[in-house]
Amino acid sequence: MKNITLLGATGSIGLQTLDIIREHNDEFRLFAIAFGKNVDKAIDIIESFQPKKIVVQEESIRQKLLSYNDQLTILLGNEGMEEISADPDTDVLVNAVMGSIGLSATITAIRHKKQIAIANKETLVTAGHIVMAEAKKYGVDLLPVDSEHSAIYQALNGEHAKDVHKLILTASGGSFRDKKRSELHGVTVNDALNHPNWSMGAKITIDSATMMNKGLEVIEAHWLFDMAYDKIDVIQHKESIIHSMVEYVDNSVIAQLGTPDMRVPIQYALTYPDRLALPASKRLDLVEISTLHFDRMDTERFPCLGFAYEAGNKGGSLPTVLNAANEAAVDLFLKEKITFLEIEEVIADAMAHYPFIDQPDISAIQKIDQEVRQQIYEKF
Ligand code: NDP
Ligand code: MG
Repeated sequence: MKNITLLGATGSIGLQTLDIIREHNDEFRLFAIAFGKNVDKAIDIIESFQPKKIVVQEESIRQKLLSYNDQLTILLGNEGMEEISADPDTDVLVNAVMGSIGLSATITAIRHKKQIAIANKETLVTAGHIVMAEAKKYGVDLLPVDSEHSAIYQALNGEHAKDVHKLILTASGGSFRDKKRSELHGVTVNDALNHPNWSMGAKITIDSATMMNKGLEVIEAHWLFDMAYDKIDVIQHKESIIHSMVEYVDNSVIAQLGTPDMRVPIQYALTYPDRLALPASKRLDLVEISTLHFDRMDTERFPCLGFAYEAGNKGGSLPTVLNAANEAAVDLFLKEKITFLEIEEVIADAMAHYPFIDQPDISAIQKIDQEVRQQIYEKF
């Protein structure tokens, strides 16, 4: 029986992780959760799973939960997330919070040698060099939850890194894949939230529409698989059936396929190196699908993908600036304070103007992250 600590329990990945725990309650038990503000959903989770520890972000939310049940153990903020991540009773940490806020919990879990299933890609984008150095030092393997990275992890299984020619990430294209740039001027938040293949949290759905999600994933792949940026390609594949591929030096390409269902990569990260059954109704029927499409990616159509390659290649503080500016810009777009195309402008501006630092440590990263956001929020 594995004890799971789940950060971001009330979110899209969090709720699907809970489905898996419920489905396989002879294998997994929910030990602790962290969430942001969604008290109603959290109460449902607490009633069904009775986690021993709960972390909330604010005192007001803690009071609301205590008025529901004053026997609960409720911790606060980042320190609370670090505490449950380090808890001796935590076997596996599933980090599914949204944003760079998840960083200190990931590092804490690494230092306590926990099994880590990582959905929180912003952690790897903002501080990949630190997270991976810690993981190496403590001998901890980060198991990817992101479907592309899970696919690559599976396709790499047992092969030698020297034999890899390229990683090929697939991109669905997001909500506006059939629109030209000139058609993006008047698009609304609701248009952008309407993803063709995946049902996900709001921020990542907007990131998919701007293609920043794929940019973040390129940086995530660079760190997870120790691969140079010129060996990571992105191609558009609108059906989201091939979740990503590895091309080897002998031109052999190994791909992982399946219907779009995040429970597959989430569960694999929990059971690795074993597998557990999932409902047969989601099995892939290639004859039924019959045709798969592929296209080259166009960084003029999707500048955010280019920004991410630039930030990754230059390194230093640039990925932190990219990520913080993107988080702030998407938040402002969701609040209808900037337009869809202004998301790109905000990120480009932050990358051009924020002073470059070569090897930022954790405290420098946290400072940059805060300052970049603050400067953007002051403007709008
Ligand atoms: P959601 O927005 O659906 O959920 C985010 C979760 O994080 C919620 O539980 C939210 O709590 C919690 N949260 C937000 N801010 C804080 C905070 N300051 N402290 C503690 N908890 C907080 O996001 P997703 O589930 O879609 O995505 C989560 C992560 O997984 C992201 O990094 C995303 O990129 C990655 N990912 C997601 C995929 C998907 O299919 N959804 C696919 C691949 C990767 P509350 O809602 O209660 O405020
Ligand atoms: Mg993905």
